[in-house]
Amino acid sequence: MHALLLALGSNLGARRDILGGACAALERCGVTLLRRSHLFETAPVGGPSGQPPYLNAALAAETALAPLEMLDTCQQIEALFGRERRERWGARTLDIDILAYDDLQLESPRLILPHPRLHERAFVLAPLLEVAPDWRHPILGKTTRQLWEELPDRSTPGAWRLLTEEW
Ligand code: AMP
Repeated sequence: MHALLLALGSNLGARRDILGGACAALERCGVTLLRRSHLFETAPVGGPSGQPPYLNAALAAETALAPLEMLDTCQQIEALFGRERRERWGARTLDIDILAYDDLQLESPRLILPHPRLHERAFVLAPLLEVAPDWRHPILGKTTRQLWEELPDRSTPGAWRLLTEEW
């Protein structure tokens, strides 16, 4: 089994149901979920202006799938929920990113591991801090907790908000 960290995001449609549906779909496709963060509502970063806010979550999981099989699976589940890839960083019903796969460092045309922007993003690190605070980034050599503490965005008002209800 391989250790996986995943990030989920949605800013279109029934966001909470879509994220819950994505978890169920991952489990049907050979991903065993170990820990699931709370939902965080976050302000969109980049992309066209006027986008609705995101719901984001992070998952700690394990799988026997190979890295590219895992990427295919994520993209099939995104397609299942109707994501249209029209513009980069545009609104999307579902985005699934592979944050990390074991301690693998990979730079291939389709897949970069660990995810190249994970350490810059409050919407990734805030939920990741709940499910994997002691995970160590294999390139930067820092834990999630350290990356979070060094992130200027973490204290930007309105950047993120923890939703306490179960999902
Ligand atoms: P996005 O639109 O942000 O979901 O980016 C999707 C693109 O990023 C796809 O073409 C993937 O092949 C590529 N990609 C590279 N590394 C990763 C990763 N670690 N997780 C998910 N997608 C990735």
